[in-house]
Amino acid sequence: MDGFKVALVGLSGQVMPDWVSERMANAGIDFVAKDCTTRQELARVAGDADVVWIFGDSPIMCAENLQVLERCGGIIRSGSGTDKVPVAEASERGIVVANTPAAVEESVSDQAIGLLLAITRQIVTRDRAVRQGKWEPNLPALVWHLQGQTLGLIGFGHIAQAVARKMSGFEVKILVYDPYVAAEMLINYSAKAVAFDELLTQSDFVSLHCPLTKETYRLISERELRLMKPNAILINTSRGAVVDEPALLTALREGWISAAGLDVVDPEPPDPDNPLFQLENVVVTPHIGGFSDYSMQRTWELSVETAIDLAQGRWPRSVVNPLVKPRWTLVEQ
Ligand code: NAD
Repeated sequence: MDGFKVALVGLSGQVMPDWVSERMANAGIDFVAKDCTTRQELARVAGDADVVWIFGDSPIMCAENLQVLERCGGIIRSGSGTDKVPVAEASERGIVVANTPAAVEESVSDQAIGLLLAITRQIVTRDRAVRQGKWEPNLPALVWHLQGQTLGLIGFGHIAQAVARKMSGFEVKILVYDPYVAAEMLINYSAKAVAFDELLTQSDFVSLHCPLTKETYRLISERELRLMKPNAILINTSRGAVVDEPALLTALREGWISAAGLDVVDPEPPDPDNPLFQLENVVVTPHIGGFSDYSMQRTWELSVETAIDLAQGRWPRSVVNPLVKPRWTLVEQ
């Protein structure tokens, strides 16, 4: 396509590799990269862009800012979650929204499993104790194990499927709740589809892998935490707001569940005095699930490939709003 412009407008602290501009130029794309912080700047840099690209959770891509993106027919959100992208408003304007979930599924699934192991093997608490001079192999007793236990996955997309694949090696039983996934899909993973409440009551470990939407906002609240087993562990690598944090705090203090492993909290960055961080039965990491040397390289590569797909009139490989009527003709890959 002649005169096709792609604007990378939100870097979220990432440093663009040198090869990105070169690959865009080789594909005949007019490419500009500028971390925009205001609507005026966005209008100046991307007002005439056909595709607008953001990395991470850049706040520049809010619904109001779509107004200044007059030519925009595609938004690329590098990564997986699109809760900071106005998908519905973009669809109304004929803007295809694409993401790159395949780049981060390995690292986020590793993170979820890492949090689970950090808790069940008491890696964080024991590390802290040893550093304080406490070499106590017998106390307190290790109270969890994996083999034969039940892992419940809420949401069964890219990341949850990778968790299921990897956790099958630990010989756990896998239950899945995902209203949008066909039950036949689960056969490959020896996983069983169950109703939401059944997953909560039957699972020893519950791991959250759904996107943050109106439907999943505080999906795990007091009622759900009370349904879970007292020995249950909650793992959240999805989005902080999928869990009602005050309810989680009470659940962990009062023993409705036994522990939580969190890569995400609400809000981010959190208040350093967040009372969850005082609890011994919580392991927290600062939203690092999507990061690894490999995942970052793949994220850049898939994002550039997505831009080139759109420029050459192909549907991107991962489309968030597949029912959109695109502004220009797109053919299947
Ligand atoms: P995905 O789109 O491949 O899968 C999400 C799954 O959730 C889909 O199968 C969908 O059907 C299901 N779902 C939607 N609504 C649901 C509901 N109400 N109940 C149950 N399931 C529901 O996404 P993914 O790549 O697996 O990522 C999942 C989420 O993980 C992202 O949306 C993002 O919020 C989060 N994430 C976090 C990190 C991190 O660094 N911690 C990195 C990437 C993604």
